[in-house]
Amino acid sequence: MIASKMLLPGSRLGVMGSGQLARMFCMEAVQHGYEVHVYSPEKNSPASGAGAEETVAEYDDENALLSFLERIDALTFEFENIPEIALSTVEKFSEKHGLIVSPSPNCIRIAQNRWREKNEFARAGIPTVNFYPVFEEKDKEEILSRTQFPCILKTNTMGYDGKGQIKCKTGDELAEALSSLKKLDHIVEEFFPFTEEASVIFARFPDGRTSYFHPSKNVHKNHILDLTFHPGNFSEGVRNRLIEYARKLAETIDYVGVFGIEFFLKGEEILCNEFAPRPHNSGHFSQNAGTLSQFSLQLRALCGLPVPNADGLPTGTVVMKNILGENYEPGSAFWNRAFQNPHYHLHLYGKTEARSGRKMGHWNYNGPDPERAFSDWE
Ligand code: ADP
Ligand code: MG
Repeated sequence: MIASKMLLPGSRLGVMGSGQLARMFCMEAVQHGYEVHVYSPEKNSPASGAGAEETVAEYDDENALLSFLERIDALTFEFENIPEIALSTVEKFSEKHGLIVSPSPNCIRIAQNRWREKNEFARAGIPTVNFYPVFEEKDKEEILSRTQFPCILKTNTMGYDGKGQIKCKTGDELAEALSSLKKLDHIVEEFFPFTEEASVIFARFPDGRTSYFHPSKNVHKNHILDLTFHPGNFSEGVRNRLIEYARKLAETIDYVGVFGIEFFLKGEEILCNEFAPRPHNSGHFSQNAGTLSQFSLQLRALCGLPVPNADGLPTGTVVMKNILGENYEPGSAFWNRAFQNPHYHLHLYGKTEARSGRKMGHWNYNGPDPERAFSDWE
């Protein structure tokens, strides 16, 4: 029996954003016989290189956005930094015309603002570092008297890959950082001396059923994800709590779709850092893990397709290594070795300009020696 709200192959799926996450979603959707339309200000985007039809317009161009929405049967997002005006246009259009939108604009609003996000974690009973808002001049004094050092001053909106953050070791440094802000709307977070970082890729379907990948271990370099080891080598207690926190978040904010949620660990202590309302860089391992990928889960949740019958998906061991602009060297000695080994899988995003820090692609390794897979990288 096919439920009436299931979107079947041939349907037109829209994505806000047209970068690598939209590209990999598009590849999955096209493989399943769907059409993909992407919306972003970028021309000749990574997603269009994979066959997505492109609408090139600013996010706040209401007319362009409305005519895009008229051409699709469902909408999802590849990133959260969508201006409020576009989110409310999507919301109103969906209410009026019944367009399927998942995750909901409200979940995007939560994820795009650290203050809202951390308050939702608190509401869901998920522990975080201590944090203080910086909205008004008078907040500064209170923060200076309460914060434990070191701490990090972070912008509430538009931050990614460590951008918009200032680490402060003393009250004087924090006072100086606070006075250098051009715009308030920040938070101060106490620094947590974690020993490991972990993430969970979690999916919730329109009928409330769930599916997830077991937690992975992540290693960052210069605030950018460098390596993901899947599954992470955690105690059973830690693993279960990580999954439980992901589930609590999904239920508390009534999330539909795939999200990545990131944690700091120290021994048995777990604090949640942030979540991303979409597939996540730390979930790319799933493309070569011997089961369906995070993009397939995104497609299935968006279209209301049947839910995989294993909640924790049965994956093999994979290590993911990001390729940044400064390491983008097709034909290097590493590439030649990797191509000779059938356990290395290359995923490139179709970007031509290799700027430093820019994500150009990733390798997945699913062979017998994960610890050493990228040890001769540089
Ligand atoms: P972004 O949105 O830019 O990814 P994050 O808040 O995830 O910002 O910070 C990037 C990285 O900086 C984290 O993955 C972690 O390594 C480090 N970091 C951020 N906040 C803290 C904190 N409160 N304590 C310790 N490390 C932190
Ligand atoms: Mg992060």
